[in-house]
Amino acid sequence: MDAEALDLVVADLVVVEIDFEYLERAEDLPMTIAEIQKVEGGQLVIAEGRLTCSSDQIKEIVINGNSIACNESAILTDQTASIPLTIWGELNKTLTSETSYKLAPLRVKSYHIKRVSTTPYTRVLKLEKEFPAPEEEFTAAADITEIRVPSVNFAEYLKRWFSCGRCSKALTDIATLEVVTCDRCKASQRIAKCAQECNLRITVQDEDNTRYVLTAFREVLNAMVAKSNELKQEEEAISLENTSPEETYKAILLLPELTLKFRKSTAVITEVRFD
Ligand SMILES: [Zn+2]
Repeated sequence: MDAEALDLVVADLVVVEIDFEYLERAEDLPMTIAEIQKVEGGQLVIAEGRLTCSSDQIKEIVINGNSIACNESAILTDQTASIPLTIWGELNKTLTSETSYKLAPLRVKSYHIKRVSTTPYTRVLKLEKEFPAPEEEFTAAADITEIRVPSVNFAEYLKRWFSCGRCSKALTDIATLEVVTCDRCKASQRIAKCAQECNLRITVQDEDNTRYVLTAFREVLNAMVAKSNELKQEEEAISLENTSPEETYKAILLLPELTLKFRKSTAVITEVRFD
């Protein structure tokens, strides 16, 4: 869970200072999601829309010794736009995917993308009204999250393989061959011309001490190795293709503060930055 989400839970569980007057006023005035996207973080809003969520994304999070259910990958969609929605606690049992609801209130969160979150006093009304389904690109974007970590805690399981030049499938059992035929698309090709792919697993820990076990593929690993080479100056530069796993792990473990974007559904890193 990101630091801000934790703040939110703590704020909502501890500070139960509700602006009832605001709620009553807002009760009759649901905002469109396009309007909510312009609202500042921290505000309460009333929204209507179609909920998209999956119960296998519900996690149990322990806060101050209490366990609370949390689904950070829900989406609320109306005729104007979609917004990521975090569902807390018992509402995870009440709310059903592909159903229209009025949710009053939700708290607006201003993170790298705007999102909304239920609060301990959110009331839910099922609506007959139909809303569109979220667009596919939106579902994919909502799946990506970003964390900043001081360093990589563990690096392990470096794997290298060649991939088919036509269909990208991994080519197996080719150590001694000069020419190989792809199992999937049947294209024969010279191994010397095939792309060398690789991945490894890293474990990182953010400021909340939440641990993430993530997979980095070639593009991300190249960016990490390039940063390591840049920092080493006089020492010999390494490359992913020709360096031992131990040297690669060392290069990654010695990297300074990293910003990692990854897919929550697959734990695959999509981008690494050093800023
Ligand atoms: Zn192929």
